[in-house]
Amino acid sequence: MLNEIEKRIIGEAYTSSRPLENLTTLCDDYGGRFAGTEENREAAEYIMGIYEEYGLGDPRLEPFTFQGCEVGESSLRVRGPTAKDVPTLTLPMTPSGSAEGELVAVETASDLESLDAEGKIILGTNRLPLRACVEAGAVGFVWMHPFPMMGPPTGVVPQLVPAVSIKHEDGLMLRRLIDLRGSVSVEFQTGCEVFERESWNVCGDVKGDGDDGYVLLGGHYDGHEIAQAAFDCGAACMAVTEMGRILNTVSDGLDGDVRVVCFSAEEFGFWGSRDYAKRHADEMTDMLFTYQLDCNGGHEPQMATVDYWPELEPFYARLRNDLGLPMPFDQRMGPGDSRAFHELGVPTGSIIDYREPGRLPLLKTVRHTEYDTVDKINLRHLQDDVAIGAISTTRMLASKDWPRHRSKEEVDELKRRLSD
Ligand SMILES: [Zn+2]
Repeated sequence: MLNEIEKRIIGEAYTSSRPLENLTTLCDDYGGRFAGTEENREAAEYIMGIYEEYGLGDPRLEPFTFQGCEVGESSLRVRGPTAKDVPTLTLPMTPSGSAEGELVAVETASDLESLDAEGKIILGTNRLPLRACVEAGAVGFVWMHPFPMMGPPTGVVPQLVPAVSIKHEDGLMLRRLIDLRGSVSVEFQTGCEVFERESWNVCGDVKGDGDDGYVLLGGHYDGHEIAQAAFDCGAACMAVTEMGRILNTVSDGLDGDVRVVCFSAEEFGFWGSRDYAKRHADEMTDMLFTYQLDCNGGHEPQMATVDYWPELEPFYARLRNDLGLPMPFDQRMGPGDSRAFHELGVPTGSIIDYREPGRLPLLKTVRHTEYDTVDKINLRHLQDDVAIGAISTTRMLASKDWPRHRSKEEVDELKRRLSD
């Protein structure tokens, strides 16, 4: 059963098109919002302006520095058995340089054990860990997308050996050349300037009525330079901003506070959320829960996840029933920005497009491809995200028996269990 405040929240959530309107502006005006760039800064100010319009308390930018880069040109040439150029994408943070040698195709990390990769260039999908390839002796790396019609994938790589990406179809052609002609030799160049950059988390508050505890609603607004980064992760930012707007209209009835944070530099290794957890260390004990949304608002039903809190299953079963949504629910590790909070023992969760756990189902989405654009975001699903997030937040704040934080030992124990 929904109470009166929850009914008002539902009414607001399903009659507002603001999340998609805001997301359209974020994507069409500010592009991929690659962390540290001018458009990243302008996007932060745009989001802060929305917080101001919605009357969130103390809207502000919190600056931090991180190891970032400016991506340059790259090229890949097949020298033999037949000469041709293959279009590439420079992977962010790759060392600048060149590599040449025989190309070897590798399917999974375990294939590396039986392979002599010394001095070779590895052709693998972006599921394959680059570090393992370098440990096996590889001097260069070519990522192919594991699925067709996705273009070349992007994603920050460790600074180990020159690395580029190509589309699935070009990867298949190179594999055919290896299979049919025995040996393929390639040369490629990469250009990428790595340096310390500045970026900004965008924070705003909803002041409730109680004083014990708060919920943090987060997503990351930075993306990659090759697309609009609507699914990963502009949609998340506009969903949590909308939750903030609506919760602010019922703040008198909230038994605690809410903070909305759009993080940055997630794509470079969760720098924004890590900086936030350090800067606000003294507020961590009062955090009841944090949602970090990532890859939501697409065409699949929206699902909720928590990072292994089985005692919350009845809470989410009741929520699903009261909202009348399919809302699949799963226990799994949340996205990158939840890690800094998970490490501290804070209960964390996410609201995402439905998918099976693991890396391959994630790679079936348009994230990190040039097709991650705002036209693929579904308003109704954004509204579902807002309803799930806002209603569950009010219930967390009102709960009398909310789970306490995990101790350091319990966090370590969970890590051991998950790595087995
Ligand atoms: Zn993301």
